Amino acid sequence: MNFLRNRLVVLGLVLLATVLLYLLLPSIRQGSMEPSLELPGDPPLFFREALPVDRAVVLLHGQAFTSKTWEELGTMAILATNGYQALAMDLPGRTEGCQTHFSSGVFPGRVVSIMTWEGTNPKLKSVLLNSHTDVVPVFQEHWKYDAFSAFKDAEGNIYARGTQDMKCVTIQYIEAIRRLKSEGRKLMRTVHLMFVPDEEVGGHKGMETFVNHPEFKNLNIGFALDEGLANPSEAFTVFYGERNPWWITIHCPGSPGHGSRFVENTAAEKLRQIINSFLDFREKEKHRLNTSECFTLGDVTTVNMTMVKGGVAYNVIPAEMDVSFDLRIPPTVNLQEFEGQIQQWCKEAGEDVTYEFAQKHMNQNVTSTEESDPWWSAFSAACKEMNMTLEKEIFPAATDSRFIRAVGIPAIGFSPMNRTPILLHDHNEYLNEQVFLRGISVYEKLIPALAGVVAFPDEA
Ligand SMILES: [Zn+2]
Repeated sequence: MNFLRNRLVVLGLVLLATVLLYLLLPSIRQGSMEPSLELPGDPPLFFREALPVDRAVVLLHGQAFTSKTWEELGTMAILATNGYQALAMDLPGRTEGCQTHFSSGVFPGRVVSIMTWEGTNPKLKSVLLNSHTDVVPVFQEHWKYDAFSAFKDAEGNIYARGTQDMKCVTIQYIEAIRRLKSEGRKLMRTVHLMFVPDEEVGGHKGMETFVNHPEFKNLNIGFALDEGLANPSEAFTVFYGERNPWWITIHCPGSPGHGSRFVENTAAEKLRQIINSFLDFREKEKHRLNTSECFTLGDVTTVNMTMVKGGVAYNVIPAEMDVSFDLRIPPTVNLQEFEGQIQQWCKEAGEDVTYEFAQKHMNQNVTSTEESDPWWSAFSAACKEMNMTLEKEIFPAATDSRFIRAVGIPAIGFSPMNRTPILLHDHNEYLNEQVFLRGISVYEKLIPALAGVVAFPDEA
């Protein structure tokens, strides 16, 4: 019974993989492709096979795996000796005329995938369409539908983790390029589609490392698009900069002693001072945000006390107490002066109060949104032509754009989602199909506009 069930499961998996391959790989669907796509000769599908016997397993080419990897790991041999037919498949290196390559130039087990559509003048700086492939976890009990089923309700709202953050954009980029190519369009500048790991956990093993890798430099990027946020109104939000995240812990040492006495110079008194200084500043910033018409969250510094540590017993005055804060600082703030303020608060709190950073980002590059900037002017003119209203903002949290800007490349955070509540990382994240489909048309205009930015004097 068990044996029969196993066989059925394996058979089901094989059938599923076959169907997926058939649907996802137009280049192996001989004769059924849209006629106008240029294919530089369909490359043969490469696979490694370990025979025999009467049970089959298909190992697909994943982010970090090729058929060679499966072979080297011994997976194929183990499967074969246990009576399975193991088939490890490599995807073709080219998809619809775009050169695809995988860079392991980040960290072991992390791979950046890049698809390149070469422009008619490949010497010019290229356009990067970036997206991250990871998502944050879900709490299924709070979801109306299975968070990974992409359920579409009667209103056309598609529910799934990642619908807003940012698989919608990933798919829109690809679909827009597919449409442009099928129309026979040729763009002047090269366009790179990049799919990076680990954005949701800080990008350290993804974009932060990759921007300094020679392979990234070889892409010769002049301008980048990356994720933005939904906008509940008619307008679309574009992000031209980000706040710098600082994670700081303040150490408050003090005289220990018995809990029954008035010990002088205690850790708790210093801790109270520190908490007051940070939270008073928090109130001021909150007030500034709430009383100004033109401020958004990205324009003020947010302060949140996130951890407190200290103490061993009810009747023991501790020798140290620590408190940690999450600070997000807009690019308009002078960071040296701000750190000076923190030093002052520590001094006022009492003797020997020190601090250390777990994270301290210092880059304040913002992307120009002046009409005189050729990239911005191409972006905004294309949006204007589509009657889109843009709201320019500083991103309140952090995305991979900050690493791109840090190496001097202008980047705009933009996800074409208007009339949509902001639900990234939230339960019941969804995107309406109409908004999603319109986004494809938006990129169909945006990508040629950016790839058509005339050559700069220094590009000749
Ligand atoms: Zn994201």
